[in-house]
Amino acid sequence: MEEPENNHNSASKVNEGINQPSSINKDALKKIKAKRHKLHSPEFYVDGILKGDRTILSRVITLLESSHQRHYVTSQKIIEKCLPHSAKSIRIGITGIPGVGKSTFIEAFGKYLTSIGRKVAVLAIDPSSEKTKGSILGDKTRMEELANDPNAYIRPTSSAGTLGGVARKTRESLIVCEAAGFDTIIIETVGVGQSEIAVNSMVDFFLLLMLAGAGDELQGIKRGIMEMADAIVITKADGDNVIKSQHAKNEFANALRLFPISESQWIPQVETCSALMKEGMDKIWNLIIEHHNFTKNNGYLEKKRKEQAKFRMYVMIDEILKNKFYGNSEVSKIFPQVEAELLAGKISSYIAAQRLLDAYFNFNR
Ligand code: GDP
Repeated sequence: MEEPENNHNSASKVNEGINQPSSINKDALKKIKAKRHKLHSPEFYVDGILKGDRTILSRVITLLESSHQRHYVTSQKIIEKCLPHSAKSIRIGITGIPGVGKSTFIEAFGKYLTSIGRKVAVLAIDPSSEKTKGSILGDKTRMEELANDPNAYIRPTSSAGTLGGVARKTRESLIVCEAAGFDTIIIETVGVGQSEIAVNSMVDFFLLLMLAGAGDELQGIKRGIMEMADAIVITKADGDNVIKSQHAKNEFANALRLFPISESQWIPQVETCSALMKEGMDKIWNLIIEHHNFTKNNGYLEKKRKEQAKFRMYVMIDEILKNKFYGNSEVSKIFPQVEAELLAGKISSYIAAQRLLDAYFNFNR
């Protein structure tokens, strides 16, 4: 047991220079922390999730984002038990450069969806947290109205770590959200990086937000991302921007026609909306439903979900192998030496890699 800070033997004795008692009861704080970090059985969490308990849902997502082995093991058991209760939602990926209006759009769209009886979970892949340790998505004012909606749940996921890691965490968050009863899942990314490809591997519908009057180079959107889009939505189509948005709609529709027809046979659509004025939300939702029915009827939805499962298996294999390799004690032991020899020009990259891999495989023999 830890010694109390001020060890008085008698209540009447006054110690000289006694510290002011802290306004925080340290013992109570310890208890709260211990309780917060107490790891329950997987069944406890699954029970909470299936009841739609948000506090437990959030705790589970924290667990599956954790790098502690114990948390990882528990979270994998939870995921397995949640799987039969998942796969019932419509999964939408939304991307666009910073400032295009993603959070305003998701808030207006999410509010529209809850108003028609849908339960919406927003998983936002947050690229800022790795570098700054802060988070643009942690900003309290972001999607405040939607965050307070009892039929919506918003959760940012840090994009720190490997792409495979981010994809796994997001994918698993998606499963627990579905098991918790959310029937519409929105995954938000900033459309500048590679995470869109990972997101495309877990959603049914990919929506690209764009602005009128800015060339695509200006908007920083790669052709590959345009090709993945099931719909391009030109947002901020309000005020002076209405006519420009209409022009942009035609331009994008023409540009999309030049792309080869996608495997789903779905022809990507272009729409305009104003998230600020809450206009066009119904049009976009109807489009998503149309796409859902279209791909369900022609068998593509099922095929895509199977391919996604296969893709995830490969991602998992990569992730597990990499973690085992870099976490191996023999590899860690010789790593600095091998790296130093490589940098000194004594050995080639190939030899360096081979030596490290040999150390790993010999260890596991
Ligand atoms: P994000 O960085 O992509 O999430 O963009 P935000 O949603 O934060 O929006 C960036 C800016 O565009 C904010 O100042 C919004 O008020 C503004 N904005 C977003 N949507 C609209 C819209 O539909 N119309 C207009 N006029 N402004 C908008």
